[in-house]
Amino acid sequence: MTRSYAVIGAGPSGLAVMRALQKAGIEATGFEASHDVGGLWDITNPRSTMYASAHLISSRTTTEFAEFPMDSDVDYPGHRVLKRYFDDYADAFGLRDRFRFDTRVDRLERDGEGWILRATARDAEGVETAVQERYDGVVLANGTLAEPNVPAFAGAFSGELMHTSAYKDPSPLTGRRVLIIGAGNSGCDIAVDAVHHAASVEMSVRRGYYFVPRYLFGRPSDTLNQGRPLPARLKQAVDSRVLRAFTGDPVRFGFPKPDYRIYESHPIVNTLVLNHLGQGDLRIRADVECFDGSTVRFRDGTSGDYDLVLLATGYTLDYPFVDREHLNWTGASPRLFLNVFPPSFNGLFVCGMIEASGIGWQGRYEQAELIAAYLAAVEQDPARAARFRARVGARAWPDLTGGYRYLGLARMSYYVNKDAYRNAVRREKAELAAPVREAS
Ligand SMILES: Cc1cc2nc3c(=O)[nH]c(=O)nc-3n(C[C@H](O)[C@H](O)[C@H](O)COP(=O)(O)OP(=O)(O)OC[C@H]3O[C@@H](n4cnc5c(N)ncnc54)[C@H](O)[C@@H]3O)c2cc1C
Repeated sequence: MTRSYAVIGAGPSGLAVMRALQKAGIEATGFEASHDVGGLWDITNPRSTMYASAHLISSRTTTEFAEFPMDSDVDYPGHRVLKRYFDDYADAFGLRDRFRFDTRVDRLERDGEGWILRATARDAEGVETAVQERYDGVVLANGTLAEPNVPAFAGAFSGELMHTSAYKDPSPLTGRRVLIIGAGNSGCDIAVDAVHHAASVEMSVRRGYYFVPRYLFGRPSDTLNQGRPLPARLKQAVDSRVLRAFTGDPVRFGFPKPDYRIYESHPIVNTLVLNHLGQGDLRIRADVECFDGSTVRFRDGTSGDYDLVLLATGYTLDYPFVDREHLNWTGASPRLFLNVFPPSFNGLFVCGMIEASGIGWQGRYEQAELIAAYLAAVEQDPARAARFRARVGARAWPDLTGGYRYLGLARMSYYVNKDAYRNAVRREKAELAAPVREAS
């Protein structure tokens, strides 16, 4: 009997899943809440957290799908080029027809060994129709960077408070006194936008950061030292020396000294902020103590007045359509084998719940291949699938840190080292493919 599968999301991960299933000869129905493929790279997707000036942060060749090189010679293409890339990818492999667009999954409920999927489909006139279908397995590829993380602050701010998820272009910044809270990759991109439009720009930071230039020795920095990764401690020592030589010490510009080593948190691939700090276009402030009308008070006893506070405070994982117990939520994230399989093997699979420096879409595709290999085993040789499940249950899960001691922050709870992770996925795929020997 052929089983039925659903895939939620037509972003890079959902497309990767559909492609890997297609290659394995497994049919699936895709559900996408937005009108097209591309996920957050489609700035017209209502859930997209993209903004007009956004470009790739990892370089093209480390990010693209290996079997589908990008039709561009630019190292860090902008989001419009990337949306086109996903259009081309979907068209090249006939993936679009496998998705139902404008169809949002609202709920997954356990039904015996399978899942009842409830969704809402919207037609061109905006008329909504309820959908209810049963699937043997469901792959969740609904993204990780859509649900804003909004910390609670003491006091109230009388100006405009906005999360970066709502930031699309610099128009709300024009002529205003802007405070950006947080200096992650989006916060730094937006700070660079802001210096050209705002009356003044300041950034409040809680901790120090490592700033990696986009280019080192004339090449995209993430293309160096590929293939044969150095041991963690050695790479940290070498790269922090290289960074000191190229970008200097960010403490000079007002950042706190990081209380952790490089790569123990996601590095910031942006040195334009440092240029703007050097030019006096931007100023670093301490962590926020409280809001008081239009005044923000900082923990170092200083304060400032602002018209707009932009929260660059990141995102939280969210799988709102399925009860947390089914994904084995533990703290800030689901605890899944290789960030993919709930240990109960309940027919749910997650693709894209992964954060790593340089994992790219190919890393997500490799997750998709592992899911496809498992489902192919379930269909064709249940003994191989059973052996995989037994192995997962019987032994300690592989160490995915690559020897780095990641900060104990919510956003780092599903962070992996790309080399350790890809090696582990490769090993499991090989194990899944190996024939089961009959006991003699
Ligand atoms: C500014 C910015 C720069 C980035 N730069 C890089 C980079 O350089 N390199 C890199 O590797 N990554 C980068 N990322 C990370 C980015 O998340 C990934 O590149 C990629 O988009 C992840 O793909 P995804 O398919 O997992 O998620 P998404 O792209 O978020 O796609 C998820 C899809 O699921 C759909 N969906 C959600 N909920 C439902 C539902 N209930 N029902 C149906 N459909 C649903 C959404 O509409 C969306 O289309 C960047 C992110 C941002 C915001």
